[in-house]
Amino acid sequence: MPEGDTIYALARRLDKVLADATLTHTDFRVPRWALTDLSGGRITAVRSVGKHLFMDVERRDGSRVSIHSHLKMEGMWDVHRLGTRWRRPGHTARVVLRAGDTEAVGFDLGVLEVLSDPAAAVAHLGPDLLGDDWNPDRAVANLAAHPDTAVGAALLDQRLLAGVGNVFRSEICFLQRVSPYARTGDVDLPALVQTSRRLLWDNRVRSVRCTTGVLIRGKELWVYGRDRRPCRRCGETIVRSDLDGRVVYVCRRCQPGPTDVGM
Ligand SMILES: [Zn+2]
Repeated sequence: MPEGDTIYALARRLDKVLADATLTHTDFRVPRWALTDLSGGRITAVRSVGKHLFMDVERRDGSRVSIHSHLKMEGMWDVHRLGTRWRRPGHTARVVLRAGDTEAVGFDLGVLEVLSDPAAAVAHLGPDLLGDDWNPDRAVANLAAHPDTAVGAALLDQRLLAGVGNVFRSEICFLQRVSPYARTGDVDLPALVQTSRRLLWDNRVRSVRCTTGVLIRGKELWVYGRDRRPCRRCGETIVRSDLDGRVVYVCRRCQPGPTDVGM
């Protein structure tokens, strides 16, 4: 599943092409919005909040709506010149937007809706690690309010802070030298939050996700996807485990603390 940095980059890419464009054709292929027609409207901005994407549209009558989407597991947005062959089968398209000879297609979107109050869709989210209004103190306070939750699970809880996904949680825990199974209450939370912000910020415009600072293929990450291989720091074998139904990678020497039963 894409993480906050990926959606941030996607929003920037779409914004570059679509901001200020007037929609000439819109086709929503989900039942609830099938009758919605935003043609004639002007896209004022494309932006991300956590892993949520918003295309703000000023309609011809002056009213404002936002096309809210979330990629979830399989989703993708593609933008191309009109007439270009689509990168996925037509039946997987959930929305087609055209502005002159530019076409944007959202495929397999986990969420697609047209909202007059977009803020409500993300009101449940914690501070956005890549937002203009990023608030580390609030993120720390939110995490601190769940002292008994495993820190690896808390990092993925978008209500506490928004943007961390499964790759980053393993990398953040490694860099903080904490077990992802450690109680959140036992972790240096300001440092954890600072590392989370730094990793997402550094990766917001990169095409390859990198946490080690080494942009060489196969050397970009510390632990994620590296089970049974030696830790880059201490040589201990990295183990792969499960936390809240999603994989997590750990160096047990660098990250002392509680371990999962299966580890
Ligand atoms: Zn290690």
